[in-house]
Amino acid sequence: MASGNTHDSSVIVAAIPVGIVSPIAGISCLVGGLLLSPDIDCKSNPVRRLKKFPPLYWFWSPWQRFKHRSMWTHFPILCTALKLTWVLFWLAFVGIATGHGLGWVLRSEWVSVAIGWAISDILHWLLDGCP
Ligand SMILES: [Zn+2]
Repeated sequence: MASGNTHDSSVIVAAIPVGIVSPIAGISCLVGGLLLSPDIDCKSNPVRRLKKFPPLYWFWSPWQRFKHRSMWTHFPILCTALKLTWVLFWLAFVGIATGHGLGWVLRSEWVSVAIGWAISDILHWLLDGCP
């Protein structure tokens, strides 16, 4: 199991080549690793960072209810899909509730976001020893 600093460093290094191929995926890799890492299910560097942005912390606070290192927070692809579904669900809800529709949800950029988040989540899982 890697330390929080190792997780942070790995995602920063990975984001460089990912960002060269796709800037959105690179930024998403950074955000996915430094703010929304699988360790948002416990007291960790990402949670300490999220607390600096109270609305973001509140938005992601349900992840604190998961057992640390559960499949919902740590298993690759599944944890990424859950986070993406959470974001897109609320964007769709707000879009429909405010009459703006699903414009924010039906954008192809979400594929790049998913790839960036997936890369950071897979790296995290590998460094944790593939639990
Ligand atoms: Zn972890």
